[in-house]
Amino acid sequence: MRVAGAAGRGLIVPAHPKHGVASSAVIVGGGIGGLACAVALRRAGLSVSIVEQAPAFEEVGAGLQLSPNATRVLRDLGVLPTLEENAIAPEALEIRDGHSGRIIASCPYGPAAVRLGAPFLVAHRADLHRVLAEAARALDCTFEMGARLEGMEASDGVAVAVANRDGEALPIQADILIGADGVRSTVRAQLGGSAAPVFAGRVAYRATIPAIAEGRPAVRLYLGPEAHLVTYPVRGGATVNIVAVVKADRPVTRWSEPGEASAVHAAFAMWAEEVQALLAGAPEFRCWGLYDLDPLPRWGAGRATLLGDAAHAMLPFLAQGAAQAIEDAAALAAALAQGPSAEAALRAYEAARRPRTARIQREARTSGAIYHLSGPARLARDAFIGLTGNRLLERYEWLYGG
Ligand SMILES: Cc1cc2nc3c(=O)[nH]c(=O)nc-3n(C[C@H](O)[C@H](O)[C@H](O)COP(=O)(O)OP(=O)(O)OC[C@H]3O[C@@H](n4cnc5c(N)ncnc54)[C@H](O)[C@@H]3O)c2cc1C
Repeated sequence: MRVAGAAGRGLIVPAHPKHGVASSAVIVGGGIGGLACAVALRRAGLSVSIVEQAPAFEEVGAGLQLSPNATRVLRDLGVLPTLEENAIAPEALEIRDGHSGRIIASCPYGPAAVRLGAPFLVAHRADLHRVLAEAARALDCTFEMGARLEGMEASDGVAVAVANRDGEALPIQADILIGADGVRSTVRAQLGGSAAPVFAGRVAYRATIPAIAEGRPAVRLYLGPEAHLVTYPVRGGATVNIVAVVKADRPVTRWSEPGEASAVHAAFAMWAEEVQALLAGAPEFRCWGLYDLDPLPRWGAGRATLLGDAAHAMLPFLAQGAAQAIEDAAALAAALAQGPSAEAALRAYEAARRPRTARIQREARTSGAIYHLSGPARLARDAFIGLTGNRLLERYEWLYGG
């Protein structure tokens, strides 16, 4: 196999004693999915190299809800105790009317967590990312930072990722290649996937503010016409995370653009005082365009596959994007232990994961539509949630049970 630009300067991810059907992996993308995958594969005995376009990891993102299907995997990966030092286990999910602040339904997390055998947590993305990066480093994963994947080859009994670092081609060879390179995945495009993420006509403004005394730790979801707001404590309770989602005509393509505070305040001007107080406490907002992807007909070919947002980017209305990337990591490691060949293991991983992630992609869309109802439909929704909301988590046991 020839790789353009390789010129003999490539790296070969060293093989570890064969554990399953692959002994080395190159992972493109060092986000939550890529790092969880690195830790899972390394613990399964593979050598791992991570190719990340950023020159260094930065504190991007804000809060993440981590449901038991994710925390169970994080515990298996050995990172949960360190994460829990800074994470919070909220006592309940409170669904509130955005305009009055009235609690429509309150759903306790405790009994569900006990039933499911793993906690509901909320954490800052940077804390989860750091814990995973430290675990990957402690396990001797190799990091190729400032290296952007531009080409790849994965059809000839071996996989090669060709990255560009400072204008130089950096080919990295391994038994398998995993594209964990996010919603605008280059690996997906290289594999022939023509799917393009679609702007969902909504943006999320995110901010973190110093904690304000506000009773029990809870995830609070405020619903209003054409908008909603989610808030919960992170960083050991020192900080409160705010996500405010509104309609938008103009697509926002960059991750984490500076957001206009005046636009956020205007969108929530008629909302409850407690919402206004939260927003007033934000020193700045970062803005995310929300993008949706239809379930893909296939995730991989040959010795390459996809993981996380690259495979199944979804709207954030079930708070499952990172959780599903973490689940992917465990499923991939399990499939590689089975065989009978690297290619067969990758196809088995995809077959195991595609139906579940597709269902979650679709349900996240539906949740978004329900959150933003207005007029009589909104009243009917609130009445229904009022009657059934305290059992909401039972309805999602297919999801949180993993
Ligand atoms: C408003 C909002 C709220 C959310 N809330 C939650 C929540 O509560 N719970 C939850 O589970 N999820 C949540 N999510 C979703 C979650 O943030 C994402 O699903 C998750 O971060 C995806 O991780 P990933 O590793 O697949 O991709 P990413 O985090 O996008 O990582 C991809 C990595 O690949 C790198 N990369 C890209 N291209 C290349 C290339 N060519 N070469 C090398 N490197 C490359 C990037 O630099 C990046 O580091 C939320 C998302 C949003 C927008």
